[in-house]
Amino acid sequence: MNSVKTMNRVPGAMSEALHELRATEISAAVGAYTPIYISHAEGSILTDVDGQEYIDFGCGIGVTTLGHGNPAVLEAAIDQMRKFSHTLFTITPYDSYVRVAQRLNQIAPGNFAKKSVLSSTGAEAVENAIKIARAHTRRNGIAVLDHGYHGRTNLTLGLNYKAVPLATGAGPRPGEIYRAPNSHPFLDEMDGVAAARKAIAYLEKISGADNLACFLIEPIQGEGGVIEPAPGFLNELQRWCNDNGIVVIADEIQTGLGRTGALFASEHFDFVPDMVVTAKAIAGGIPVSAVTGRVDIMDSMKPGALSGTYSGNPVGCAAALAVLDQLTAPGMMDRSAEIGRIIQTGLRELKERYPVIGDVRGRGALHGIELTHPDGSPNPEAFKAVSTRALELGLLVLPGGSDGHVLRLLPAITVSDELIDEALRILDRAFAEL
Ligand SMILES: *Cc1c(COP(=O)(O)O)cnc(C)c1O
Repeated sequence: MNSVKTMNRVPGAMSEALHELRATEISAAVGAYTPIYISHAEGSILTDVDGQEYIDFGCGIGVTTLGHGNPAVLEAAIDQMRKFSHTLFTITPYDSYVRVAQRLNQIAPGNFAKKSVLSSTGAEAVENAIKIARAHTRRNGIAVLDHGYHGRTNLTLGLNYKAVPLATGAGPRPGEIYRAPNSHPFLDEMDGVAAARKAIAYLEKISGADNLACFLIEPIQGEGGVIEPAPGFLNELQRWCNDNGIVVIADEIQTGLGRTGALFASEHFDFVPDMVVTAKAIAGGIPVSAVTGRVDIMDSMKPGALSGTYSGNPVGCAAALAVLDQLTAPGMMDRSAEIGRIIQTGLRELKERYPVIGDVRGRGALHGIELTHPDGSPNPEAFKAVSTRALELGLLVLPGGSDGHVLRLLPAITVSDELIDEALRILDRAFAEL
């Protein structure tokens, strides 16, 4: 039945040996979601060191959106590597950094003049966005939402909803961070505007609007469990921020650059952030991240304030241009949206047959299956069983949700219909055997 080669045993002998070595050599603080060690990858197929294959519905958490070994990305990176791999843009610049910034300024949400700054990781870009917003407003407060995720650096640890295990033992978390209730249509009955008013009333009490520099928002929460707010939620928050001089920052690190059937998830909601943060999918796996926003805000810090040794690395920028070329080519976002419709139809059908599925939701190549007990409470045990079985059958899926009970699907937008069908069949079998 399967086209992927599996031995029905995970891990194989070679992976098992590496996993044992890892236990003595690598800090226990580095998570180990699967024990399979990858030898090579192409398109949507991962091959491990034992020769077992897996359909990749994780993409390294939404990074290889155009598939592994994307030929144009590969060519651009190798070509740049031959020319030079580093000079440091702030010392002796090069054109690809400028072109990546220009492309992002053109495609980011908002019909106004923009500028960008590049960095290496998502968390670093989030930190840059906050520094800029604070410098622009001369305020300190940062508003975030329940179930949000923004990274693992010291500042971003304070922005995350989940402190355990991410911040456990890491010392005091930074101050002036205010977390408001989100809109979670599966769990609350509130319409989007009512949910936003509740969040706003709370923030006005615990912070005060004029204490807030920025409101950092994932338009669809990724790690939180693919939570899409009720219609009107984002618009009402935006209106309040605009009225009160609070910089709206969209964290589109996971949702941006084609993942949800649009270049930016903000577009689905007519949500117009002042700044948008991108990373993950931007350079096909080479670490590049960016903040793109209104010119007057982006110019708020003094020259020299932002950047680091590897910021806007030339190999990353070359890869990013090849990624952005493909994402903006005709039909690409239509395909991302179509993948969403195929997956959604398949998941709804599974939901009819398996009561452990409480909810299915998502757009494009970002979907979540919320697994629940009969009383509606989170069911992380079902996630563990289904994801483990799926892996044995040749499908890699991701965890999500603040209780680890949301099965996340993030395929490449270059995935074939046949592989989507096969992935859905594997999920069906994994649920049937639960
Ligand atoms: C992955 C992610 C981050 C952090 O990015 P890193 O590159 O891991 O630092 C921040 N926000 C969101 C929404 C993410 O998905």
